[in-house]
Amino acid sequence: MASIESVTGPLDPEDLGTVLIHEHLRFRDNATADEFPHLYDDDALYAAGVEAANKALRVGVKTIGEPTAMFGGRDVRFMQAVAQETGLQVVPCTGIYTYDYLPLNWQTRSEDDLAEAFVHDIEQGIQGTDVKAAFLKCAADEAGVTINVEKVHRACARASVRTGKPIMAHSHPGSATGPRQVEILVGEGVDPEQIQIAHTGDTDDLDYIEDLLQTGVYIGLDRYGIEMYLPTERRNATVLALLERGHANKMHLSMDSCGSIDWFSEQATTALIEQGAVRDWDPALLHDQVVPQLKEGGMTDEQLDTMLVQNTRRWLTPL
Ligand SMILES: [Zn+2]
Repeated sequence: MASIESVTGPLDPEDLGTVLIHEHLRFRDNATADEFPHLYDDDALYAAGVEAANKALRVGVKTIGEPTAMFGGRDVRFMQAVAQETGLQVVPCTGIYTYDYLPLNWQTRSEDDLAEAFVHDIEQGIQGTDVKAAFLKCAADEAGVTINVEKVHRACARASVRTGKPIMAHSHPGSATGPRQVEILVGEGVDPEQIQIAHTGDTDDLDYIEDLLQTGVYIGLDRYGIEMYLPTERRNATVLALLERGHANKMHLSMDSCGSIDWFSEQATTALIEQGAVRDWDPALLHDQVVPQLKEGGMTDEQLDTMLVQNTRRWLTPL
């Protein structure tokens, strides 16, 4: 069986263990961090990444999918250091996280040129290291599938078809981006089994979710702790309803937590926590709080194993 790439080398799929498919160790703007490094306390951010990894390990998580791509400040040496220090297995990606903007260098080049850059990360290694990308990342958000967003999706699809690697697509159910994202990727020849529509769990519109599942893709119920997008109780009700309908084998559970994130000032972060907009948003939240709630609602151990062990392994294993 094909191996799964991690920042500390290829893994036997059997050794993945319990996986949180969508957790960031550090998230920050590439350009700002490059141009104004004095705004970032690297030691503190590293310590925060180690702390996040240790929280995952404490609850029995062995591996995380680390979907930080371009514009999220992807840095595989950072991930590698955290993985080596803590023992957490970290599975990196390649791709571009944009809701619309693309720099001119990519606007003036083709989907295939972009795909070529992604394939380099998959076959040669990322950022001058021998760490290889295990999956591809693209995004669509409130603005929908814009021309630039479509380009990134087509590039990811072409790189996926060439390399057999799966695709994680950040979506925005509020503007119903999911079906269009699937249409583009499948239209390029990607097997729906290799597509994960992330953040589907930000809605509890079961008709919208069922329509996505009909296409054969995986869905991410992956933002536990971000109460401002959907509170935990409604996320749980959605998960339980989908389990009851027999969809366990297409669901991924995660938090989309960030060991650190530069989106908000310290003051704004404090306010968000005080307002309850985010609550206990870290890699331990699922096991510490959500799993007991879901079990109380009828989720079986077998269903949990299906989602956190089997689905994650199946999705990550290249074709
Ligand atoms: Zn994310």
